[in-house]
Amino acid sequence: MKGLMQDWPLLVHRVLDHAARWHGEREIVSRSIEGPVHRQSYRDLDRRSRALASASKKHLKAKKGSVIATMAWNGYRHMEIWYGLMGLGAVVHTLNPRLFTEQLIYIINHAEDQWIFTDLTFLPIFEKLQDKLPTVKGFVVMTDRAHMPVGTKLSNVICYEELLGQGDEGFAWPRLDENTACGLCYTSGTTGNPKGVVYSHRSNVLHAMTITGADAFALHSRDTTLPVVPMFHANAWSLTFSCPMAGAKLVLPGAKLDGASVFELLDTERVTMTAAVPTIWLMLLQHLEQNPTLKLPYLERVLIGGASCPEPMMRAFIETYGVDVIHAWGMTEMSPMGTLSRLKGSMLDLPPAEKWKEKLKQGRPGFGIDMKITDDKNEELPHDGKVFGRLKVRGPAISSAYFKGEGVAAFDADGWFDTGDVSTIDEWGFMQITDRSKDVIKSGGEWISSIDLENAALGCAGVAEAAAIGLPHPKWDERPLLVVVRKAGTEVSKDEVLAHMTGKVAKWWMPDDVAFVDDIPHTATGKISKLQLRERFRNYHLPTA
Ligand code: AMP
Repeated sequence: MKGLMQDWPLLVHRVLDHAARWHGEREIVSRSIEGPVHRQSYRDLDRRSRALASASKKHLKAKKGSVIATMAWNGYRHMEIWYGLMGLGAVVHTLNPRLFTEQLIYIINHAEDQWIFTDLTFLPIFEKLQDKLPTVKGFVVMTDRAHMPVGTKLSNVICYEELLGQGDEGFAWPRLDENTACGLCYTSGTTGNPKGVVYSHRSNVLHAMTITGADAFALHSRDTTLPVVPMFHANAWSLTFSCPMAGAKLVLPGAKLDGASVFELLDTERVTMTAAVPTIWLMLLQHLEQNPTLKLPYLERVLIGGASCPEPMMRAFIETYGVDVIHAWGMTEMSPMGTLSRLKGSMLDLPPAEKWKEKLKQGRPGFGIDMKITDDKNEELPHDGKVFGRLKVRGPAISSAYFKGEGVAAFDADGWFDTGDVSTIDEWGFMQITDRSKDVIKSGGEWISSIDLENAALGCAGVAEAAAIGLPHPKWDERPLLVVVRKAGTEVSKDEVLAHMTGKVAKWWMPDDVAFVDDIPHTATGKISKLQLRERFRNYHLPTA
């Protein structure tokens, strides 16, 4: 027997239809690239997205399956491009401006991008690259006529507002299959070439529905949300879909991501929920520390992910500013949300120290994500919070393959995707990342978690940033070296760092040496680049005991 429910494909434009019809007056506030703060409503977003779709169809010849790139900050025009082009059936390829030039050329050519929508900020990048991008027909500059650059060396340049002005605000979305591709994002990939993750309408809508839930982001129509996490990094963690779905007011930060600028938006727009990687929160907390009269009276919760949330950061938000922290783990390949550290009802009677321990973990999966850890023989490992293994996931918003069939080794026949992370899962179902499989330190056949070493070092006064890497060792194969950036104006020593770590990690995990540096290299998505760090310390000799 067939169910007799309506056939209502899960298409991204439905999110916008809903927001415009039922939350039409809610605001999208953007710090514009040109300068002033810009305000429009979901109703405006709907009108302008339709106009953009219609104009792109007519003038850019965009159609179902066309791959069109954006290099843009979080802002209202970027959202119009997403909804407009996705609604048309085109595939929006978000480019990360922090990628190295060679990687950018590679991914634009690999994706065969036809047009590039760019913020004013990035014109110099494309002026240099354009001759190396044979598939790109031209550039749409995301501004109005008054701000169009004079004398740009870019060829075939179109002004965004002029393009949009030629479109039809009543444009009717085509009916598409819900499995149609709508987004493309390359993973930063610390080894080999970046690989393309292809999102579908269905996966984006399902994912957004999941993360609005009370045990995830708990988004609702009274929220004012500030996604500091960029739209070019894993869909801004889906907030540009889930906020319109919930009817939450959106605040988009544009290009200014420093502590003072983020604080200003949190305060003036009375933001209740915000999301970003730890680096951003480090800058905000430093700004607050330097200006002790500043408080966060409106902010209720902050989502921290993309890299492990250090304990001092979580404590500062919760204990000093009264803001709850949701620690989250995910990946570009997972749309991106995987787990969140929300305590369960059955954990509420745990002693406070235990609760803290759990909250600091990466957390548990919600409905729609299946997860397991396995050993090297693909045998599932127990949930005892101690043994760690390869973390594998599956679900409807998780990649089943990479673009153009690359990276097949990450997917197995039963539909599991190997995340490349190494983790434990405890009896509560809480997962804790202990490493990337490439970064784990192998000493005498046993694994040492580089992340645990870093976390243990981070609590030491005077340590601003820490990274642990394995260096070759004649007896143990590898031994850990801890690389530390000192806090400005401090002179913390190797002995002080090691003394601080003693008792926090197993004795045989203790680093063989501590090297002090001025900076630690990061990838384009803000993660510590262990690859570059290992390269930098290739000829470093650990002291022999
Ligand atoms: P990306 O696809 O660029 O978002 O990178 C995903 C990777 O970032 C994951 O596979 C993890 O290695 C790392 N990651 C994301 N969130 C966390 C977290 N909360 N703690 C530790 N690592 C994380």
